[in-house]
Amino acid sequence: MIDPKFEKITALSLTAAQAAKLKEGIADWGYDWGHSSFGWLKDHLRTELRKQQRDRCCYCRRPLRFDKGPVEIEHVVNKAAGGAYAHFTFVLKNLALSCKDCNNGKGQKTVLRAPLPRNSAYPASSAPFLWVHPHFHDYSAHILIHDAWVYEANGGSPEGVAVIGKCKLTLLSGIERANRRVLVESSDDFAAALSRALGMVGDVGLDTLCGELSPLLAKLMGSGGSAAKAEAAIRDAHAAVKALAGAAMGP
Ligand SMILES: [Zn+2]
Repeated sequence: MIDPKFEKITALSLTAAQAAKLKEGIADWGYDWGHSSFGWLKDHLRTELRKQQRDRCCYCRRPLRFDKGPVEIEHVVNKAAGGAYAHFTFVLKNLALSCKDCNNGKGQKTVLRAPLPRNSAYPASSAPFLWVHPHFHDYSAHILIHDAWVYEANGGSPEGVAVIGKCKLTLLSGIERANRRVLVESSDDFAAALSRALGMVGDVGLDTLCGELSPLLAKLMGSGGSAAKAEAAIRDAHAAVKALAGAAMGP
C-alpha cells in the first residue's frame, strides 16, 4: 500500500495584513485570478500548500514536480463554471495543489452534488460535495492506493469513485509502469539500472518490481544473465539497503 502522505489540508490561512491586501486586490480587480496583482498570494499559497500537502498532488498523491513550471493551484469548485461561483475564486478552502494530469482530467467537471443557491457562502463541510475534498475529507477513508499505483475507492466510496474516474487515476498504473520500464531500459549499465530499480521499491512493492523489471535487467547483465539472476540481485541489494537503514536507526 502506498502512503498518501497527508489526509487533508488543515491549516491554510492568511495573516491579517495579507487578508487586507487580498480584499483590496479584489476591490480593485474583481475575481480576476490571472491578474498580476495577485502574484504574491499565489506564491504564498504554493509555499504553504506544498508544506501541508507534503509535496503531493491533492488527488493522486504522486510527487509534485518542479520541472514543468509552477505547480497548478487547483480550484476545487470550478471558478469558471458559468461564473456562478466566481466569488469562490479566492476562498482558501477552495484551493489546493494538484498535478497537471489531475487538473486536466478534472477540467470543468462539477464536484457538487447539486448546484448551490445563488451567492451562497462557501460550504463549511463535506456534505455538498460528491468528491474527496482536499480540505474536508480524510483521503484514505475514500481512496486506497495499492502498490504500483492501483487506486481503489475505499468501501466503494462514491466520493472516491468520482475522483478516481474524473482525474483518470485508473490510467496511472499503466503510465507509471511504462515510466519504470523506460528508466531501467535507458540506464547505462546493470549497476545503474539496479540502483534505479531499488529506488522504485517504495512505490511498487518488491514482488511486483521483481516481476516487472527482472527480464529487463537481465538484458543488461550480458552473457550468462537471466531474469532469475537479475531478481536475486534486486532482492540481495534491497536486503542490503534495508540492513544499512536498520543499522543507521539502531540502538
Ligand atoms: Zn495528481
